[in-house]
Amino acid sequence: MSDAELAANFADIAPPLTNDAALLEANQCLFCHDAPCTIACPTHIDVPAFIKKIASGNLRGSARVILDANPFGHSCARACPVEVLCEGACVLNDRDEAPIKIALLQRHATDRVLEHKWKLFEAGTPTGKRVAIIGAGPAGLACARDLRRYGHAVTVFEAKPQPGGLNTYGIAEYKLKADVALAEVQDILDLGVELKLGVMVTAIEPFLKEYDAVFVGVGLGSTKRLGIPGEELPGVIDALTFIEHLKTHPYNQTPVGRNVVVIGAGNTAIDAVTQAKRLGATSSTIVYRRGEADMSAYHYEYELAKKDGCGFRFNAAPRRIVGNGAVAGLELSSGETIPCDMVIVAIGQGARAELSVPADPRVFTGGDCANGGAEIVNAAAEGVAAAKKIHERLTNG
Ligand SMILES: Cc1cc2nc3c(=O)[nH]c(=O)nc-3n(C[C@H](O)[C@H](O)[C@H](O)COP(=O)(O)OP(=O)(O)OC[C@H]3O[C@@H](n4cnc5c(N)ncnc54)[C@H](O)[C@@H]3O)c2cc1C
Ligand code: SF4
Repeated sequence: MSDAELAANFADIAPPLTNDAALLEANQCLFCHDAPCTIACPTHIDVPAFIKKIASGNLRGSARVILDANPFGHSCARACPVEVLCEGACVLNDRDEAPIKIALLQRHATDRVLEHKWKLFEAGTPTGKRVAIIGAGPAGLACARDLRRYGHAVTVFEAKPQPGGLNTYGIAEYKLKADVALAEVQDILDLGVELKLGVMVTAIEPFLKEYDAVFVGVGLGSTKRLGIPGEELPGVIDALTFIEHLKTHPYNQTPVGRNVVVIGAGNTAIDAVTQAKRLGATSSTIVYRRGEADMSAYHYEYELAKKDGCGFRFNAAPRRIVGNGAVAGLELSSGETIPCDMVIVAIGQGARAELSVPADPRVFTGGDCANGGAEIVNAAAEGVAAAKKIHERLTNG
């Protein structure tokens, strides 16, 4: 596949609105009182307020409303599962009309912040209190952003070479690119957050000696193993490793099979199967041991994979991966073998076993490691809520 084809395959799936289109869309909003979209958003962005500001041409004010409630307003505008959140709650759905394009409007306003390098928030008056944050994903950095606004000193410790968590390393490339994720992070760091990269924290207790509070936002661990013979063969890869490679290398440098099988049927499996297809696999097929109705992937993600020409094999339980020195096929419990030269395992992430969180009133948690795995917007909401609790604790003694 040529570089131009690859670039087209990974271009934004929901391209930005033009100015005129944004104005037109904003003026369709009914500006509901007690707006159901605001209630449905985990960070409770005042959606009618930010849309009204777009309608009146005040993009800076609009972005402020968004980012005040949600420090990850940029990435959420690109990656939120809006069909089950704000847009799914829009009253226009009840009239059989299309909902307001809330995410695209949110992107329209927040893109200007990065473009013009607007500084919309500032650090609070220094309190002399210090907070350590473990993990520079959306949960940790949302917490860091608000702690800085309250005036506390914040140091974030991150194991990876880059901050952003799965925003940088995991979200499907056609939704969110790493450079946007990193620009969003930089905007938060500019409030005076200290960031220490390449630090794998193995115990929380030492931080309690040096800091007044600790927030743990370490996300989930690696992909669970299948536990079937052949899993160690070259050509078997876990979904997160596959996606991370794609997001951190030029597209033509991510190895992809000719015939790819993805095991699992959640949103990560869909991301893997579509991205394998978009990288140039001739066939890319989900194999799932249960039925279509049991898939945990969102309906629109399933539709996207079908539109991309991906295959689906339901009620197909993998028994072993066969091959002589490299993957040649996936044998099912029915005895049938699906020929393939790459198997991507996407059966969910386990909890992080390497870091135990002590029960201590100065230790707070949020994001995937606390909620078991949800969305960016949930991690952001939990980071913001934790910052408020930490602030209350630090200021009330
Ligand atoms: C493949 C995939 C696709 C997804 N797609 C979407 C999507 O389209 N839309 C959406 O809203 N959500 C999506 N999600 C979910 C979303 O990415 C997560 O809910 C969100 O990133 C959780 O944020 P977090 O900060 O809790 O964890 P993470 O983003 O995982 O960040 C945790 C950070 O902590 C660091 N860390 C871990 N352990 C340590 C340690 N011991 N010491 C120091 N640092 C440590 C990690 O390196 C990481 O940077 C997807 C998830 C996956 C896996
Ligand atoms: S953050 Fe996500 S759920 Fe909330 S209003 Fe924006 S797009 Fe909708």
